[in-house]
Amino acid sequence: MTFLYENCCLFYKQCIFCHGRCYSAESICPGCRVDLPWPGSTCQRCALPLSLNSPALCADCIKHPPSFDQVSALLLYKFPIDHCIQRIKSRGQPGYLGHLAQLAKQHFQDQPRPDCLIPIPMHWLSQQRRGFNQSSLLADCLGKLLNIPVHKDRLIKTTATEQQHRLSKAARQKNLKGVFQCRGNISSHVVLIDDVMTTGATLNEASRVLKQQGAQRVDAWVLARTP
Ligand SMILES: [Zn+2]
Ligand SMILES: [Zn+2]
Repeated sequence: MTFLYENCCLFYKQCIFCHGRCYSAESICPGCRVDLPWPGSTCQRCALPLSLNSPALCADCIKHPPSFDQVSALLLYKFPIDHCIQRIKSRGQPGYLGHLAQLAKQHFQDQPRPDCLIPIPMHWLSQQRRGFNQSSLLADCLGKLLNIPVHKDRLIKTTATEQQHRLSKAARQKNLKGVFQCRGNISSHVVLIDDVMTTGATLNEASRVLKQQGAQRVDAWVLARTP
């Protein structure tokens, strides 16, 4: 009996958040899944959290409509997803992306299906420093899970930019002007893939460039949105 029990343990997975046992094929236990910072009511365009009886769009999207059509955010950028994304980026643990993509699969499957996924590119020097581009790895996982082509070479970042999180929204937009370039044919309906959306300046500039090159609709799928 003990032998059998011990053998069964070989099939347990460890929850990536609490390290408890998971009895399903997933890597997030039911308790942690319930406690994740799921977004409630959000702006239909930029996914900014809104109070319950707010209009469909946030004030910013009404005043300055962004270049992208619709952002879909899996979670809010709060504990424990913030720690998880920091671990991926600062401590070089990209393995978490596969678990998060698995979690995101159902959510993004319910969104309008695009012709292709395009990850937000990094400047080659920054990518060399980190060793990987988390958006690109995430796009690979989602493309595989949802059977959507991933076009990594269509959008490139030609200029290295200052770290965006230290800048105001206006400064971010100025900082990003002209840093993306398109290559080759751009599909009609594109989804940009990024790990986190903060002010949306990056997604806005990337969408602007893609639309200039012929994209009719540009949505964005992100793992987490800052509240
Ligand atoms: Zn757990
Ligand atoms: Zn908005």
